[in-house]
Amino acid sequence: MFKKILVANRGEIALRVQRACRELGIKAVMVYSEADRDAKYVKLAEEAVCIGPAPSPLSYLNMPAIISAAEVTDAEAIHPGYGFLSENADFAERVEKSGFQFIGPTPESIRMMGDKVSAKQAMIKAGVPCVPGSEGELPDDPAQIRRIAKAVGYPVIIKAAGGGGGRGMRVVHTEAALVNAVQMTKAEAGAAFGNPAVYMEKFLQDPRHIEIQILADKHRNAVYLGERDCSMQRRHQKIIEEAPAPGIPRKLIERIGERCAAACKKIGYRGAGTFEFLYENGEFYFIEMNTRVQVEHPVTELVTGVDIVKTQIMVAAGEKLPFTQRDIQLRGHAIECRVNAEDPYKFTPSPGRITLWHAPGGPGVRVDSHVYNNYFVPPNYDSMIGKIIVHGDTREQALARMRTALLETVVEGINTNIPLHRELMVDAKFMAGGTNIHYLEQWLSHHKR
Ligand code: ADP
Repeated sequence: MFKKILVANRGEIALRVQRACRELGIKAVMVYSEADRDAKYVKLAEEAVCIGPAPSPLSYLNMPAIISAAEVTDAEAIHPGYGFLSENADFAERVEKSGFQFIGPTPESIRMMGDKVSAKQAMIKAGVPCVPGSEGELPDDPAQIRRIAKAVGYPVIIKAAGGGGGRGMRVVHTEAALVNAVQMTKAEAGAAFGNPAVYMEKFLQDPRHIEIQILADKHRNAVYLGERDCSMQRRHQKIIEEAPAPGIPRKLIERIGERCAAACKKIGYRGAGTFEFLYENGEFYFIEMNTRVQVEHPVTELVTGVDIVKTQIMVAAGEKLPFTQRDIQLRGHAIECRVNAEDPYKFTPSPGRITLWHAPGGPGVRVDSHVYNNYFVPPNYDSMIGKIIVHGDTREQALARMRTALLETVVEGINTNIPLHRELMVDAKFMAGGTNIHYLEQWLSHHKR
């Protein structure tokens, strides 16, 4: 096992990895930008290294600074968290070439999954069902593009091969709008992701977003840890996640979960990963794979009892998965609300000083957050300041616990989306379960204020 790990991230996930390291008896080296000097995990750290000024290109995306921080502190491995460099194959490669273990899959796996066209091709080969669409990248010829769209059937969605974070997508309803839309998406993709390749999928009308968590080791063992329902989204950004997904037959989940685990074995995947699917009319359609730990991993931890971050570290060190598929039993229901520093209805970011922070507690309540009283939320990064996660024997109990937790939470000095969460937890449709990916935006448009 490693003696020392460098945590190449910030915010709640940096604290989460630090906690896992402590539990494993591993020293965690924290890195921070000048804006994060006062972060909780930096204050709690035995060792911390400033890697640059606030803008992330100069700090959290600064590969040489991160790698030299690992060198000067004698760390053996680097945990990339999520976001920033976590899905950057070049970074993973540089980490390994510099003699450190990258806590995640191989650079080859990251590269394959980072290009959504090659990811889809690999999944089709591995027997994972995908959204019907173009076979690979779209050609330049307008006549050919029109022919493909006709075969797929309108509406279609044009997606950037290198896209991510909900960007680089365009829905097309008619042939008249098609070629122009493809050209625009290509131009944007080239500018935003450095890769102009786009592909086409059938645009599913009312799907749910269901994802399968997997963990794999270096010995070709792979296990799926059930599913998460992440359909409550705004602008393709998840806000509420839960496990298990309400109303989906266990048989269907098991079938798709087994396919995902088998695909991992086939491609020699290692570490934590998530297969994201759209689910409509009883069918799963693969859309992409995330090759890192995800924000919403705690709901899976609460229903399976598996510590995903600890397991990531153990398998990176070469250990075998400490469980088999048969050991994974789901218990109860878990819900996560992402707490963002933003206006709850207008969504404008609200950085600044938190003058009062009171976190909820009680049975089945977990809070993953790096903030505290008098903490200053820097304006430079993502607006998420923490997550409230609850567990109950049933979904009803989890909902009741979340309502209580949200009621107890006090954040003063900045705006947060907690008022929105409070309303959603008593919304009849959400309470019934199974809302689709458009539900939250429709709800917001009816609740304008
Ligand atoms: P990103 O990597 O940017 O998150 P994804 O491929 O995961 O991109 O898609 C993000 C979201 O876009 C999905 O959760 C879904 O809401 C929507 N989406 C993507 N593909 C389709 C599709 N074929 N039909 C309908 N919605 C889609």
